[in-house]
Amino acid sequence: MIPVARPVLGREEEDAVVEVLRSRYLSLGPRVPAFERGFAAKVGAAHASAVSSGTAALHLALRAVGVSEGDEVITSPFSFVASANSILYERARPVFVDIDPVTLNLDVEAAAAAITERTTALLPVHIFGYPADTPALERHGLPIVEDACEALGAVHADGVRVGGRGHPAAFGFYANKQLTTGEGGMLTMGSADMKVRVDSERNQGRAPDMGWLDHDRLGFNYRLTDIACALGLAQLDRLDGMLADRARVAARYREALAGVEGLELPCEDLGGDVRGWFVFVVQLPRGVDRDDTVRALLERGVQSKPYLPAIHLMSFYREAFGHREGEFPVCEDVAARSIALPFFPELTESQVAEVAEKLGDVLQVAHKAGAA
Ligand SMILES: *Cc1c(COP(=O)(O)O)cnc(C)c1O
Repeated sequence: MIPVARPVLGREEEDAVVEVLRSRYLSLGPRVPAFERGFAAKVGAAHASAVSSGTAALHLALRAVGVSEGDEVITSPFSFVASANSILYERARPVFVDIDPVTLNLDVEAAAAAITERTTALLPVHIFGYPADTPALERHGLPIVEDACEALGAVHADGVRVGGRGHPAAFGFYANKQLTTGEGGMLTMGSADMKVRVDSERNQGRAPDMGWLDHDRLGFNYRLTDIACALGLAQLDRLDGMLADRARVAARYREALAGVEGLELPCEDLGGDVRGWFVFVVQLPRGVDRDDTVRALLERGVQSKPYLPAIHLMSFYREAFGHREGEFPVCEDVAARSIALPFFPELTESQVAEVAEKLGDVLQVAHKAGAA
């Protein structure tokens, strides 16, 4: 079976974790600031705060830019559900707008048109590692919170790395991400004051310079362990290599899948943007049943995943907000046809060829069945 994702973990990670265990210093130890500094340097951010998940980073970022009850936050419906959920944690309202059919990121014209006097922030998602057009969103002068959880290694056309623009940007370290700590996240930001607030709120609202148990605001337990940070430091050391391997696997897929009729591949880098490769998602030809395709691939030993479903059409969002089909046609069309193929740094050339061949076979069978 070829899995859909697989982390790269070696002796370095094992040694780093064992070293923390032997130090007996498992929480709030020296690896937390070390990982933060290393990560901030990697993306060109002034500051970074390590937290327990990408979702926690998004939540603290929204609080830090002042999003609160009744506010509207404009975001993409084509994302992992966490980006919209984090808005709801503060009782604000996610205002979805449709996506660009090429980059699959928030359509910046649609976002501009959706701004009202209740809009307090914009939440672009760098989906599948492709940099969202944040520079265009910056013109509105509203706070921006970036969901960069899929975009480690991505670079904007103006040369600024995703996470380095100064807006709070959330990264996630779940096992399928470009860098993993098992579970974990990081918020990068340009403001030192914001880091003070975020560091406090991830730790039950503890005042930075007051003793153990003084809490001067409401906070959470969103801390990341030293074990996770040690893992993160080891992963940072090999990050450039892992990103290069992902890019190489993507290039091989492009070649191997070029001849498959009707299949849409991820867009190429446009105008100087650089994608940070996270997943290899293809859109199946219209009329092909996506779930049947996933099943048929599985029978042939290839794991794949419908990725991503549209957030506004998930049962919770339908029921809570009355969303229905037809609201965001581009997103819905893409979401209905997209599957993530096996994609990870150590995927071999022959595995890529095998996936491509089997997908080609499955689609040919589906095509014949459709024609009959
Ligand atoms: C992975 C991911 C997150 C955060 O996930 P966590 O599991 O909370 O770390 C948020 N948004 C997107 C788009 C993601 O892919």
